[in-house]
Amino acid sequence: MNNDTLFGRILRGEIPCDKVFEDDQVLAFRDINPAAPAHILVIPKKYIPTIDAAGPEDAELLGRLMLAAAEIARQQGLAAQGYRLVINCKDHGGQTVYHLHLHLLGGRALGWPPG
Ligand code: AMP
Repeated sequence: MNNDTLFGRILRGEIPCDKVFEDDQVLAFRDINPAAPAHILVIPKKYIPTIDAAGPEDAELLGRLMLAAAEIARQQGLAAQGYRLVINCKDHGGQTVYHLHLHLLGGRALGWPPG
């Protein structure tokens, strides 16, 4: 599958990002339009358009995304007071970039339910 999404271009280094974490399977960078004092996107290097497109073969990778987010939250000093992890899926979920990503939001108390 050809990854012509914005995050595909970031992964290929075609556009810059404010990187906070990287390993062999995961990249994390600051959201360009933050919805909270800390807003970091955690993405797989593998191209998976949405969480709906993930399969059993992605189980370990999805776990690594979650664990990377928790590690980044600790590194960023968010863990003591807490934070939120969000995956938007397709139109009703509010997804705008069709490369799977996990939002790490923190630095203030977040409202619930979401809009
Ligand atoms: P979503 O709406 O869940 O698909 O999330 C996409 C996110 O990507 C939004 O929060 C945008 O603010 C963010 N975004 C868009 N362009 C960039 C960029 N060039 N660098 C970092 N984040 C971006």
